[in-house]
Amino acid sequence: MIVAMQDHATEEHIQRVIERMVELGFNVHRTTGAAQTILAGVGTPEHFDVAEFKVLAGVHDAYRISSPYKLAGRSFRPEGTKVKFPNGVVVGGNEIVIMAGPCSVESREQILTSAKQVKAAGAQFLRGGAYKPRSSPYSFQGMGVEGLKLLREVADETGLLVITEVMEISQIEVMLPYIDCFQIGARNMQNFNLLRELGHVRKPCLLKRGIAATIEEVLLSAEYILSGGNYDLILCERGIRTYETYTRNTMDISAIPVLKKLTHLPVFGDPSHGVGIRDLVPPMALASVAAGADGLLMEMHPNPDKAMSDGAQSLYPEQLEKLVAQLRQLAPIVGRKIA
Ligand code: PEP
Ligand code: MN
Repeated sequence: MIVAMQDHATEEHIQRVIERMVELGFNVHRTTGAAQTILAGVGTPEHFDVAEFKVLAGVHDAYRISSPYKLAGRSFRPEGTKVKFPNGVVVGGNEIVIMAGPCSVESREQILTSAKQVKAAGAQFLRGGAYKPRSSPYSFQGMGVEGLKLLREVADETGLLVITEVMEISQIEVMLPYIDCFQIGARNMQNFNLLRELGHVRKPCLLKRGIAATIEEVLLSAEYILSGGNYDLILCERGIRTYETYTRNTMDISAIPVLKKLTHLPVFGDPSHGVGIRDLVPPMALASVAAGADGLLMEMHPNPDKAMSDGAQSLYPEQLEKLVAQLRQLAPIVGRKIA
């Protein structure tokens, strides 16, 4: 941490800041110029809040120079994390992994047709919510356990893996036998109790960025899961809320290379929630892969016009097929390939 004192700060103020830094465990190095004193705190105390220093008497400003996330930081595992799934699917390796399917599981026929179409397009995972976080309590809330059973059944029938959203702690045990990856939705990115609990589970998780979350907040949420001992974690950019209203969210493509630089965890793009408009999904999917994404999470519905949720952003099956063919051509340009 660096503390810059105000010009001509009194010796008493300077000493008070030094005392507090030492108390926290910093080794303090003092540099005094003609007017200003700079205090450099070396060391990494477990708990300190830079904001506390910003408001001490005589302080001009204080900055943190070490990252507040230790386990999620790239330096913890410079080679990158590979998340291994059944069927030999690896996320974070050379191959781009595709997870696709409807927003929600609606019926046996709908999810079976989806699974066949997703498989034919070349995806490795079937997605579909059984527990749905809906903005309105009157909207379809998902099929619950019945939906989980259907996901497992049709995924096994078609040779796919299952990713689906967990909304609360009580659902974790229920979901375990049916799924291959927990999806933590944007609205739950800062449900810290849920994150802690998922840290104790030995099943991969995909953590989505919250609608108003900074990149640092995403990494601190990841830290909750990692610190419980669950290292099988994937991050996912899914659009953030900005002043733009044309698209449902603003897909922050830049977050992908930024995250790849800051963390060893694999990073996905979800262009469906990122833009919310079907025809804009393929270009944003291509952009995500070009920007370094390790995979994509996308919505596709056999009949999007009749979907019970997120129909407007769900690809038609033939659109998904065409997109995967384009991704196959793009991937080698960025040194990757489509599984
Ligand atoms: C979803 O994947 O259908 C979903 C609800 O996503 P998000 O949490 O990103 O809104
Ligand atoms: Mn959705």
